[in-house]
Amino acid sequence: MGKMIQAICRKCNTRFSVRQGDGSRVHLLHCVRCGREKAVKIQEFAGHCQESIIGFFNTPEENPAVRQEFLPVDARKYTALIEHKAGLCVCGAPFSMIGKPRCPACRSSAFERDPGSPKTRYY
Ligand SMILES: [Zn+2]
Ligand SMILES: [Zn+2]
Repeated sequence: MGKMIQAICRKCNTRFSVRQGDGSRVHLLHCVRCGREKAVKIQEFAGHCQESIIGFFNTPEENPAVRQEFLPVDARKYTALIEHKAGLCVCGAPFSMIGKPRCPACRSSAFERDPGSPKTRYY
């Protein structure tokens, strides 16, 4: 399950919301250069066993519905497929499964949670 937090940039104090982790129906990728977010729908991968895909990215502790016998899928192949599907960011750099969210103002990846923000939202 993914969550949404309010973040404050450590460099320029810009407040922005950050989604962390994969949602139940999407993988969240980030541009390796500017941190722009891209969500790739899991359902778009017809022909793949959806449970095995979800199973790879969520441990059974996080998602009890995941059955151990679906693990592991071919992680590298799958990651490459998702990243290919995500394509390129408007800045020209690729999206990555391990890319980090960045401040929309200064593109710093150093941010902390806004202590005065409303509760974390889950999606
Ligand atoms: Zn970019
Ligand atoms: Zn910033």
